[in-house]
Amino acid sequence: MELRQDLPADLRRRFQSGRICLDFTHTGGEGEYTRWELLHRPQDASRFLSLIIGTESFRVRRNDMSRIIYLRAAITSEARARAAGEIAPAEMLEVINEAAANPPLVTQLGNDSNALFLSGTTSQALSTLARDAIDLFASPHGKRIRICEARDCELLLVDASRPGRRRWCSMEWCGDRQKKRTASRRAQRGDAR
Ligand SMILES: [Zn+2]
Repeated sequence: MELRQDLPADLRRRFQSGRICLDFTHTGGEGEYTRWELLHRPQDASRFLSLIIGTESFRVRRNDMSRIIYLRAAITSEARARAAGEIAPAEMLEVINEAAANPPLVTQLGNDSNALFLSGTTSQALSTLARDAIDLFASPHGKRIRICEARDCELLLVDASRPGRRRWCSMEWCGDRQKKRTASRRAQRGDAR
């Protein structure tokens, strides 16, 4: 089973939003997000769905791809509207609700008291992601969806910190880059004086 922590840092940061539904939106998208696209073939969808949800791999068929991409677009639209304080088109909600109406993946309690998902069908995986989205959007954390503050990043995150000061998708990536930029700006100002 492939784990988030085994990915290179620039790919790993996509899957650290704090919620599986938002991590799913970071696998690509439409318009400006096509540059992020990871789900080119059913094998890619199988790999990243299992990585995000934390299960053994799924069997994704070619004709599952449009459902996967459609749900991803709906969750993306809803999450980004919330991050911007706007309202997403109603049909996006319908797509999420329809996916959630199917049975989800089976959960089990692991040895370390964590909830684990068992592998299942693509439809179960999509239901699990859609239910996570509903749970997030309907909870107080739904108001804490933010976009990473690094200029060229745009990944989503849930600020679950008590003081509400999470700013970066990943401290080791955008947080660190920003710290270095600030330090170099300071150094440049120092040189100019
Ligand atoms: Zn970032």
